[in-house]
Amino acid sequence: MDNALLVNYEYCFGCHSCEVACKKSHNLPLGEWGIKVQETTPQKLENGRWMWDFVPYITEKCDFCADRVKEGKKPSCVQHCLAFCIEYGTIEEMVKRLGEVKGKCEILIPR
Ligand code: SF4
Ligand code: SF4
Repeated sequence: MDNALLVNYEYCFGCHSCEVACKKSHNLPLGEWGIKVQETTPQKLENGRWMWDFVPYITEKCDFCADRVKEGKKPSCVQHCLAFCIEYGTIEEMVKRLGEVKGKCEILIPR
């Protein structure tokens, strides 16, 4: 498989919709996830404000929504992200997008 997800987590606000959408579409049991959102430790900035991020990562349960993609649909997490901050495509396309998109980005590839 040579596809990937690009997550611009600068815009992720930790709503966990991607986790739920993935679990639902794959009928994953309690405690199993295809995507998880991790919250980083808050850091105090020089101006006294606090900063932290929500950073999604995929697990070995992620099959990049092979069945949905075969039907011409977007992966479930991409479809349901409320911040529209997850993109899907080939690794090449996502690397290209990485150079175009402004923000804190990560590319997630299959394990
Ligand atoms: S691409 Fe599909 S299987 Fe992978 S994390 Fe997203 S919803 Fe889950
Ligand atoms: S659905 Fe989008 S905004 Fe919500 S936690 Fe997942 S990546 Fe972040």
